Amino acid sequence: MEQQSEASNHERMEENLDVLISTQTVIKRALDKLGYPGQVFELLKEPLRVMHVRIPVRMDDGTVQVFTGYRAQHNDAVGPTKGGVRFHPDVTESEVKALSIWMSLKAGIVDLPYGGGKGGIICDPRKMSFRELERLSRGYVRAISQIVGPTKDIPAPDVFTNSQIMAWMMDEYSRIREFDSPGFITGKPLVLGGSRGRETATAKGVTIMIREAAKKRNLSMKDARVVIQGFGNAGSFLAKFMSDSGAKVIAISDAYGALYDENGLDIDYLLDRRDSFGTVTNLFKNTITNQELLELDCDILVPAAVENQITAANAHRIKADIVVEAANGPTTLEATRILSERGILLVPDVLASAGGVTVSYFEWVQNNQGYYWSDQEVEQKLEEIMVKAFETVYQTSQTRKVDMRLAAYMVGVRKMAEASRFRGWV
Ligand code: GLU
Repeated sequence: MEQQSEASNHERMEENLDVLISTQTVIKRALDKLGYPGQVFELLKEPLRVMHVRIPVRMDDGTVQVFTGYRAQHNDAVGPTKGGVRFHPDVTESEVKALSIWMSLKAGIVDLPYGGGKGGIICDPRKMSFRELERLSRGYVRAISQIVGPTKDIPAPDVFTNSQIMAWMMDEYSRIREFDSPGFITGKPLVLGGSRGRETATAKGVTIMIREAAKKRNLSMKDARVVIQGFGNAGSFLAKFMSDSGAKVIAISDAYGALYDENGLDIDYLLDRRDSFGTVTNLFKNTITNQELLELDCDILVPAAVENQITAANAHRIKADIVVEAANGPTTLEATRILSERGILLVPDVLASAGGVTVSYFEWVQNNQGYYWSDQEVEQKLEEIMVKAFETVYQTSQTRKVDMRLAAYMVGVRKMAEASRFRGWV
């Protein structure tokens, strides 16, 4: 036992957990496979622009705290950059850069007229008051206002940010510009120009991916055993959609632990009890760890939390037939190789979680037109786009004999490389 854990520790140390380096590695492989010259990789390996800001915020106790934030814009050859803003204590510049590259890939895969962008602030919103969060959100927009806008770079929600935060940011931006600018940001509340279906979009997209992947494996969704890591925006709605569709959600988790019941959890009850950050396991005594959750015997495993969860240390012990990445970057490259060698069907993040940005695009289009769509219209368009994206990536992986991650990168990088070439950048 002792020896085994030493061995896996060693493996883990050997493995590269830097998400920027991992994504650059796959971008390089994808461009090589597609036959692009080295200068295209030189252009795409880093964002074109990264802004580093310091945001002074008056806290409720009267003191001033200075927060650090970033906004990365990967590539705007195809159109304005687009992507969320996360509020999290572990945010780093390198992570925000990688996340902006992933957004470019997502936009390419679902064929949106965008490049990728991403923002982040190092903070712990779980320990901040409502008013402190408002001042931080507004301060961030003031700090980055020069480089963002409806035709430049369009933010959205991400980890620990929500429609209220989008509303404050939109209000701040509109005040600075002195005109109402709903198209500056997506993921807004409905009354401020949000889109129907945006809140559930990421989970809807993941649900479609699970259904399509299950078809490829001849797996019936009825009573399929599903394990979901994370109970935030993606994980919680996904659990609901899965249990409503007749699948059995046997485990879910939050940052503090996991709940497991082989007969299926009562998702409606858990949704009722979760707080706004997706915490629910603290209300229960019989919990398992997040690591144990990943290794449960199940049909479908959905990491919907944070990065580097499936690594070389545990990839051999994953028992699911299908892994669908609702989070950004939950599986390392080494683990991707192990899972694919073991015949596990992996639907990678840049494909699986693209439903969020797809409905964000719908929101932006509706804002630009001032004409709003019905639930059915949003749902039907999302369905069409996601099914087509899945099929394109799946077929690429079959015909080019590459794993699904590399296939998704090949599909995702192409339009951006072409647009950069036409513009004369490479
Ligand atoms: N933050 C989400 C993502 O990582 C959504 C981005 C957006 O809607 O622009 O895909």
